[in-house]
Amino acid sequence: MKAVRIHEHGGLEVLKYEDAPEPPIEANEVLVEVKACALNHLDLWLRVGVPAWKLPFPHILGSDISGVAAQVGSLVKHVKQGDRVLLCPGISCGHCTECFQGLDSACRSYTLFGILVDGGYAEYVRAPEANVLPISGDLSFDEAAAVPLVFLTAWHMLVARAGIKPGEDVLVIGAGSGVGSAAIQVAKLFGARVIAVAGGDEKLEKARALGADEVINHTCQSIAGEVRRITGKRGVDIVLDHVGAAVWEDCFQSLATYGRFVTCGVTAGAEVKLDLQVLFGRQRALYGSFMGGKGELVEALKFIGQRKLKAVIDSAFPLKEAAAAQRKMESRNFFGKILLHP
Ligand SMILES: [Zn+2]
Repeated sequence: MKAVRIHEHGGLEVLKYEDAPEPPIEANEVLVEVKACALNHLDLWLRVGVPAWKLPFPHILGSDISGVAAQVGSLVKHVKQGDRVLLCPGISCGHCTECFQGLDSACRSYTLFGILVDGGYAEYVRAPEANVLPISGDLSFDEAAAVPLVFLTAWHMLVARAGIKPGEDVLVIGAGSGVGSAAIQVAKLFGARVIAVAGGDEKLEKARALGADEVINHTCQSIAGEVRRITGKRGVDIVLDHVGAAVWEDCFQSLATYGRFVTCGVTAGAEVKLDLQVLFGRQRALYGSFMGGKGELVEALKFIGQRKLKAVIDSAFPLKEAAAAQRKMESRNFFGKILLHP
């Protein structure tokens, strides 16, 4: 099969479009013919190299995958050859206390397609049956690939971690990213008022089209100042961030009393200064969030199927142009998901 593999960490030049062996499947696995694979910022980190994750080389990136079940193992019960499927990105043991509680991403053996196992930058990928979900209704392969990681992440952040409630004010940082565009919609679904932050009027128009009630252009407006104005000095109940140090001061200042800050990433700096006096005095909370459980993705998918939440697609590239697709992601000049087509 054709695949884009990396044999070492490095720049875009380490993404090699080449022949690779078709993956053999175990009895409890499904071989999926990949129709679309969405990029995530994670792919860039993994390509460059992250000390926490030692990749098996040669390695195939790609965590968000849709396709057709091409072959099913003898023990597979719920997937048939020819089924249109999407893959739940997180792979866990299924037998530990955390897995039984639905806290998949707390499982000690938790990984994603594209980290410790091969991902979707290829014509075929193997997947445990437990990760193979049907594509509901008339959802296209592109839409199905654009959903899992970002909607699971946004759902887990807002619903499971921050405990979003109707009527709350939610500040979404990085509204143009995959997680940001999913978070705007999930927050609206739960009856919140959404203030979206992005760096450009075009992105902010798109954020409004997804349901954002208020927008802030961080290149020419103060985030904290605008939040103060919009909320009548009260601040927001939830800040959803994946940028980090570059916006931390503004985010923390923007929180109301009892406000919750929830983060799932640090694309611009991991170390921040925290005033504990303000944290306890204003009874605020900080939450870390990483992926989520399969059950949460299934919940989000119900609303995707009903078109109450929708995949946001920026563009699609042929698989062999994976480097160009990653370059576009690095440029930050996109809105929603960037896809690869094998
Ligand atoms: Zn487990």
